[in-house]
Amino acid sequence: MTPITYKLDAEAPASTTYYPQAEAFTDEVLERAEETITPLARSYRRYLIEYELEDPRTVEEYAFELLNLGVLWRRYGSTALAVEMAPFRLLAFLSEWRKKHQHIKPAIDIVRGVLMAFFLTPIEPRRTEATPCCLADLEYLVRWLEATGDFREDAIRFVRWLVFFSTLEPADFRTQMNVVVQFADWFESAGAGRMGAFTPNVDSFVRENAARYRWREDRFACLRSRVEYHLNMVGAEIMNRAFLNEYARSEKKTVLLPGCMRLRSAEECEGTTTPKGIRCAGCEARCRVNQIRMLGDRQGFDVMIIPHSSDLSLWSTKPGEPAQGVVASACLSVLVQGGWELKRYGVPAQCVLLNECGCSKHWHSEGFPTQIDVRELKRLVQPGCRTESVRQALIA
Ligand code: SF4
Repeated sequence: MTPITYKLDAEAPASTTYYPQAEAFTDEVLERAEETITPLARSYRRYLIEYELEDPRTVEEYAFELLNLGVLWRRYGSTALAVEMAPFRLLAFLSEWRKKHQHIKPAIDIVRGVLMAFFLTPIEPRRTEATPCCLADLEYLVRWLEATGDFREDAIRFVRWLVFFSTLEPADFRTQMNVVVQFADWFESAGAGRMGAFTPNVDSFVRENAARYRWREDRFACLRSRVEYHLNMVGAEIMNRAFLNEYARSEKKTVLLPGCMRLRSAEECEGTTTPKGIRCAGCEARCRVNQIRMLGDRQGFDVMIIPHSSDLSLWSTKPGEPAQGVVASACLSVLVQGGWELKRYGVPAQCVLLNECGCSKHWHSEGFPTQIDVRELKRLVQPGCRTESVRQALIA
């Protein structure tokens, strides 16, 4: 079947094609960043440490945030600046509410879809050609990102960057923004060359479906551009490296799978609903979730099905409980945001991509069971030898 937007295992298993390629491209991006944006990421890290604004993370994570800023500016900057008036705070509030109150989520989603189409989305979004010329431009972008709900985690990180940027002289700020945006341009073209084989239909999907998604709350998640797909591929890889040691130390490990992996529909699935998600009851031998659950029984990890946009704070370790690590799985358009959210709640996480998107709620009229690369899952869930190799790389 033709992929909807992306596919990681079109030619061969993703563990032998996509994952090695993503690893190599991430190395290339980080190497190139050293000559361009990483010095700024280092200054930012020193600033955060000096003013004790957050527990310092790795330089690579901050470099990725800068790359993310450059890509999102190019993609959404002119859209954000064109919005003269919008209920930003109401939209941001609604996006939080739908996570906390799943029973009224469908109603909230209808309201969000209408408000977003009306206030946040021009009829024809255009690429932003200029670089941000002052801090106010970026502030506008960040407010817009937060209001969409889909970029909330990005916005939370950018707010701290805004504080740091406010300490720069205006001319220095413009110089740094030029470097960031030029790096994003290099990434766009390099990403298309290195990772484009895995995202063959993103452009056509966006072109053909823009009108269909216009009034929907998932319009930003489903109409992501090709460069954003490649950005999330690199983001997932950087996160897995950065969170690896903490995850490896966690005593209990749980694999979180999306409902769209089930062979049966939500109504026919016999899984048991718990406060944290749905526990597979093994009603269907061919169901992927069931097979991974049985693998977990043999290898000592738990498996849960969690609905899209569920409250991930439930996975943070409570006092007196064994440290909980998770391997989360989702499609490319939302994976990095999920990883950041887990990090914000202090949950040590690793992430594995769905091989392609296919749920009926967001992507496909009938939907089909999605899959992950089980070899990659095994590699992530029990990471003994990987932690040693990462440690050696860090020492080197
Ligand atoms: S095997 Fe498990 S996840 Fe699959 S449909 Fe049955 S209960 Fe649901």
